[in-house]
Amino acid sequence: MVRDKYAAIRRRIEEACARVGRDASSVGIVAVTKGRSVTLVQEAIEAGLRTLGENRVQEARDKISSFPLPASVFPPVSWHLIGHLQTNKVRDAVRMFDLIHSVDSVRLIRAIDDEARHVGKVQDVLIEVKTSPEVSKYGIKPEDTGTFLEETNGLKNVRIRGLMTIAPYSVDPQAARPYFRQLRLLRDVLRLRPSTIDLGPVLSMGMSDDFEVAVEEGSTMVRIGRALFE
Ligand SMILES: *Cc1c(COP(=O)(O)O)cnc(C)c1O
Repeated sequence: MVRDKYAAIRRRIEEACARVGRDASSVGIVAVTKGRSVTLVQEAIEAGLRTLGENRVQEARDKISSFPLPASVFPPVSWHLIGHLQTNKVRDAVRMFDLIHSVDSVRLIRAIDDEARHVGKVQDVLIEVKTSPEVSKYGIKPEDTGTFLEETNGLKNVRIRGLMTIAPYSVDPQAARPYFRQLRLLRDVLRLRPSTIDLGPVLSMGMSDDFEVAVEEGSTMVRIGRALFE
């Protein structure tokens, strides 16, 4: 049952927070529903999960539109895009997602800003940072994030809420720690810059195999698929 797995994950987050003196209410869970049936998504919502993450625009669109969402669900469900976004999918993405975790180029964030202006919304986004060269083709190099912020200064219809990263897969969760720590330290350094750009409070890091380590390193948003649904 998703309900029991969710409870177990919350408990493990609380324990991880206790180890480092954090308040567990500062850690949110994105239930990663990619590849899961509408029935399972429904079960997750009934269990109390309200933030759902998809990694492909097309799949998310099918799911959201086919979704027999109870009109009474409160708090409302919020969909996040956690996977790579191509500029030709920005139109749909801006209409569907409350937070886009995967902004990885100036071209993309400008396209999001343009589209958000059309829709009359301010789109919340995270900057995806490539803390590990081998794990993914996507993400901005840590050393380029400062320049990225400069170049996106002045965009009125996007709001950068923080940073996201994906650690390389390892059987040992501790192996992910340096990548998570790097993201947190990068956030701290970026915040010290004399800049008008407000880098938001979000650190989106940690998945099923390594979320406790991520929480110990300051994650405010863990993205959990398998540990909830398998
Ligand atoms: C699939 C996915 C997750 C969830 O991974 P699990 O190991 O199933 O918890 C988290 N983040 C991203 C970007 C993903 O694509």
